[in-house]
Amino acid sequence: MRLVLLGPPGVGKGTQAVRLSQRLGVPHISTGDMFREAISQKTPLGISAKEYLDSGKLVPNEITIGLVKDRLSNADCEAGFILDGFPRDVAQAEALDEILKGLGVPLDAVIYIDAGEDVVEKRIAGRRICAKCGALYHMTNNPPPEDGKCTRCEGHIYQRIDDKAETVRERLKVYKAQTEPVVDYYRGRGILKTVDGEEDADKVLETIISMVQGRK
Ligand code: ADP
Ligand code: ADP
Ligand code: ZN
Repeated sequence: MRLVLLGPPGVGKGTQAVRLSQRLGVPHISTGDMFREAISQKTPLGISAKEYLDSGKLVPNEITIGLVKDRLSNADCEAGFILDGFPRDVAQAEALDEILKGLGVPLDAVIYIDAGEDVVEKRIAGRRICAKCGALYHMTNNPPPEDGKCTRCEGHIYQRIDDKAETVRERLKVYKAQTEPVVDYYRGRGILKTVDGEEDADKVLETIISMVQGRK
């Protein structure tokens, strides 16, 4: 199963990708997580990506596309993958077509998770994340333990610096200008499936599962 999850920042792509990865037994590939990991390890990739993440802009395609190409060429992607946060502009969508053509495999579906801006803003404002394993929490929907340690791995739970209000405004602008055209790109190809991301996370998951299993 080869899936792309599309949608505005904070809509729940990561939340669904983790669950889908478990249910379908294929890796979850999040470019955002890859960049954050590289930044925390201070690798050359992290050093070049940091300023873009901090300001809410897209990391340049020369960096991002090669990273995804390498990742998708790994043996663990042979059975499939869940792409979360890529493609984020039309050039990346075209590059993904090329990469998959080179690997000789098709995309099964693009799941567009949609929600109003007010919902998305509240989700981002309350989002907390584990520095070690990436587990997601939300101050009201799924509060982190009081001691601030991840229930899964005891890692430190923090708030992303790009989740502060002014950077969120920039990310939403970038989403509208650069990522929304990707929705039309896939709609035009007939592989786009839209799910209401305002529902609770379990409901969203079941809807996606029935969509990819051809029952919706
Ligand atoms: P969110 O889950 O809130 O949408 P992500 O974790 O996917 O955020 O991305 C965080 C940041 O990482 C983006 O604002 C951008 O700077 C960078 N990034 C992630 N994926 C890509 C991509 N495909 N192309 C360019 N930059 C990216
Ligand atoms: P994205 O990857 O699209 O940026 P996340 O999966 O990180 O979004 O979710 C953003 C925040 O919203 C997280 O704090 C997460 O716990 C919460 N969240 C995700 N999906 C839902 C949902 N369906 N209902 C309520 N809260 C949610
Ligand atoms: Zn953790």
